[in-house]
Amino acid sequence: MFIVPERDIADLMTQEAAYDAVEKVFASMASGDAYNFPVIREAIGHVGALYGFKGGFDRAGLTLGLKAGGYWPENLERHEIINHQSTIFLFDPDTGRVSAMVGGNLLTALRTAAASSVSINHLARKDAKVMGMIGAGHQAKFQLRAALKQRAFEKVIGWNLHPEMLPNIEEVAREAGLPFEAVELDGMREADVIVSITSSFEASLAADQVSPGTHVACMGTDTKGKQEVAPELLARATVFTDEVAQSVSIGEAQHAVAQGLIAEGDINQIGAVVNGTHPGRSSADEITLFDGTGVGLQDLACAAAVVALARENGTAIEVEV
Ligand code: NAD
Repeated sequence: MFIVPERDIADLMTQEAAYDAVEKVFASMASGDAYNFPVIREAIGHVGALYGFKGGFDRAGLTLGLKAGGYWPENLERHEIINHQSTIFLFDPDTGRVSAMVGGNLLTALRTAAASSVSINHLARKDAKVMGMIGAGHQAKFQLRAALKQRAFEKVIGWNLHPEMLPNIEEVAREAGLPFEAVELDGMREADVIVSITSSFEASLAADQVSPGTHVACMGTDTKGKQEVAPELLARATVFTDEVAQSVSIGEAQHAVAQGLIAEGDINQIGAVVNGTHPGRSSADEITLFDGTGVGLQDLACAAAVVALARENGTAIEVEV
């Protein structure tokens, strides 16, 4: 098997390679070639850790495996390592032998940024100029950096519950040579694209704070109970997701579906837009909303790409198991 350690990922993997891998696997999911296994997530009753597995199989890309890991709330304080920890394991689908072990921390950030970026590329208006951010934590920087590549944005606006964190995303806007403005949530009406990436358990963005024609990517809600936008916004929008089953159970759509504002059948797979079996945006006034819940196949696709890159440049460590 090949090992690609976490320390090597930054030199090997690019946001562009993550975009390609994620776009392709979303397409495979929509065409029925790839599927995710049920997610396991357990509070293990030790140091407050949440541990679990996300796995799947892509018959088209021949990628089989899982990401194992989770959240260790005391890591930073006690061990000076980040609280989110994960490792990806790939298996040979022909024999069942383990084929790779890959550090999953940076890859998780890149694959999550790639997902909203795929949605922007396929659903945002071509003339989008103002990029809006809700959230300014660790993941927000990745989401913004990837989003800015998708359109000729002229300005970034941002809101965060904790305004002292806004310099995180201001720095990314400046890196891209764009002006940044902190706004109240009402100010989001100016945005053509909005990405939300918070750990909130209640809606921040109201339905009337989004203008017609906007594309919204809700990326923070990946657990039952979390919520970033008002359910009425989903009723106003055409809703897309990575995986419908996750969207209605742990994604942003869980609330709108539970309240009967939309039905499971109203939610479209983003991969269908990539494949061309769904037309995507139908008018300049339509609000499109992507519910990015995060699926194991995104991790596996990015891990397979990084293993190929590491083997190509000779840095993959080969061991016999
Ligand atoms: P972080 O802890 O670095 O940042 C948290 C962000 O949420 C900050 O901007 C903070 O101000 C904001 N926030 C906290 N409480 C809030 C509240 N009550 N209302 C509004 N905003 C609030 O976390 P991160 O690494 O940036 O991750 C953000 C979220 O994204 C997490 O919930 C994480 O689980 C989720 N996530 C989702 C995926 C996916 O694939 N969908 C992948 C990675 C992370």
